[in-house]
Amino acid sequence: MKNNISEILKILESHYSDEVRTTLNRMRENPDPFKILIGCLVSINIKDDVTDKILEELFERVGNFEDIIDMDLSELEDMLYLARYRKVKAARLKSVSKEIIEKFDGEVPDDKDKLLSINGIGPKTCNVVLCFAFGKNAIPVDSNTIRIANRLGWIDSDKHNEVEELLVDSLEGESLRGANALFMLHGKSTCVPVSPFCSGCPVSLECLRVGVEKSR
Ligand code: SF4
Repeated sequence: MKNNISEILKILESHYSDEVRTTLNRMRENPDPFKILIGCLVSINIKDDVTDKILEELFERVGNFEDIIDMDLSELEDMLYLARYRKVKAARLKSVSKEIIEKFDGEVPDDKDKLLSINGIGPKTCNVVLCFAFGKNAIPVDSNTIRIANRLGWIDSDKHNEVEELLVDSLEGESLRGANALFMLHGKSTCVPVSPFCSGCPVSLECLRVGVEKSR
């Protein structure tokens, strides 16, 4: 099973090598824990191009957690004008910033338990920070990852932590750290939730298609 997962990742890496990577994945090139954490909180449930636009404006205005605390809440909400749930997100940026300043001297911790102790940081955001900001062996697991792992026959589970454990045990280094972006691309373009495009899928020969009743 381990070899199969690793081989399939290699095929996907080769297939999607020229595709645009996600906003957060691009941030790995110049990892800044502050920007990656804030970027992840802003990006939840919005498209990459919208996230890019918001973050470009936001990071011209703020460079650390103190800057976010110092901003008026209404100003922060205005900067998030394109984001869904902008009021909730603005409040969360403030509360997370406050907690990081008070508990961790304004530095993003590189430890899973410490990150998860911060109100507003869940398992996915925690793993984005550990993986993209600190290069740790972690992988953010989203619905694309769970769906693809189950269809390929790697696992029979919809639990984030079980899929995460399987991938962390099966992949290493850059292969693990780049896997989330590949699953997102594959899940959006080919292995879509309803009626996936199996006829044009680069890993169709390796796939058990578990639970796929209709495909194209
Ligand atoms: S063959 Fe179909 S179900 Fe399997 S990974 Fe490809 S698109 Fe998804």
